Amino acid sequence: MSVFEIDSIVYERWCRAAVFHGPGLPWEMAPIDLHTERDEAVVSVEACTLCSSDVHTVTGRRAGPVPSVLGHEAIGKVVSLPESWTLVDVAGSPVSVGDRIVWGVAAHCGECLFCRDGIPQKCVRLVKYGHGVHRPDQLPKGGLAGFVGLVQGTPVVVLDEATDARIACLAACAGATVAAALRLAGDMRGRHIAVFGGGVLGCIACAMARDYGAASVACVEPDSGRRERAIAFGADMAIDPAEPGFEERLKSMNDGLGADACLEITGANAAFEAALKSLRTGGTLVLVGAVYPAGPVAISQEYIVRRMLTIRGLHNYAPVDLASAVNFLQNRSKFEPAIWADLFGPEFPLDEVAAAFAWAAENPGVRAVVRP
Ligand SMILES: [Zn+2]
Ligand SMILES: [Zn+2]
Repeated sequence: MSVFEIDSIVYERWCRAAVFHGPGLPWEMAPIDLHTERDEAVVSVEACTLCSSDVHTVTGRRAGPVPSVLGHEAIGKVVSLPESWTLVDVAGSPVSVGDRIVWGVAAHCGECLFCRDGIPQKCVRLVKYGHGVHRPDQLPKGGLAGFVGLVQGTPVVVLDEATDARIACLAACAGATVAAALRLAGDMRGRHIAVFGGGVLGCIACAMARDYGAASVACVEPDSGRRERAIAFGADMAIDPAEPGFEERLKSMNDGLGADACLEITGANAAFEAALKSLRTGGTLVLVGAVYPAGPVAISQEYIVRRMLTIRGLHNYAPVDLASAVNFLQNRSKFEPAIWADLFGPEFPLDEVAAAFAWAAENPGVRAVVRP
C-alpha cells in the first residue's frame, strides 16, 4: 500500500531505519510504518554522509544514547507537511512538498534565553537529529533511514536540484560548523587565516576563508596527502606541525606578526597551544575540534593579556550558518567537482551500514556515503 506519490514516485507504507544499539552490537533494520498520523514534516532521505562524530559513537569513543538512528549530515525530499504548523526555511519562506532540502542538526524553541542570545544550538528544549534516542512510535530523527520526521523549529534550507547530494549533505554539519567558526573569527577580507586540521572541515575552512576574501590561508596538518588536498582547496601553504619552528613559518604569511585568526579543528591540545602561539597581537582563536574528553591545557594568563588575544569556543551552529554553508557549497562545488569528490569515499546502501562505518573508521578525513 502506497502512502505518498510525488513527481510520479510512489513511496510505500513501510520504510526502514538502521537502529544503533551500542558499540560492537549488531545493527537492527527496524521497519517504520509511515501510515500513522504524525504532526511532523516527512522527508524521504536521498543521502547521508557519515560525520566523524557518528563514527566515534559507533566505535565507542564518544558516548551516545541508545537505541538511536544516527546520521546528521543528510538531505532529502519533502513528501508530507505537518497539519498544525508550517515548515519554513531559515529565511521564513514556506517549504513545499517535493522540495529537496537539508536540515540542521537540531530544532530549537526560539524563545528561551539561549535562543534569544543567538546560540539556539544550546536551546533548553533542543531536539537533536542523529544523536537522540529512537522511539519506535516516532519517525526516525537520523538520516540512516528511509524517512526522517522533522519537528517545528528545525532549520531548513531548500537545495538546488543540480547540487551533488554528497556535497549538499556536508552543509548540515561540517559546512555549517565552518561557517559558524568563520563568523566568530570575524571579517575574513584581507586577513591572514591559519586552519589547524586538514580533514573535511579543514578543507572547507580553507576554501570558505579564501572565498570570503582572506589575504592568505595556511593549513597545519601532519598528513602529507591531506596537506596536498588543503592546497587544492585554496590554502596558500600547508605546514607539517612536526617541522621544527613551524609557527615561525606560519607567522611569515603576515610579515612575521602571526595569523589574524586561527581555527582549531583537530581537538588536539598540542594544536591548541600552537594555534595560540601563531596568533598576532589582538588575534582571535576559534576552537571547534575539542568535542571529546581530553586532559586540561596549561596556558599563561599573562600571554593572553599582554597579547590581547580572544579565544572563542564553538559547538554546532545557528540557522544562519546552515544557509551560509548551503550557499557556499552550492556555488563553489560546481566549478571544481573533481576537488570536492576527494572528500568522499564509496557509497553504501542502508543494508550495508555496518560496512559503511567500518570503512569510515579506517579512512578518517574522507566521508563514507549511505544512500538509504
Ligand atoms: Zn530555545
Ligand atoms: Zn557532525
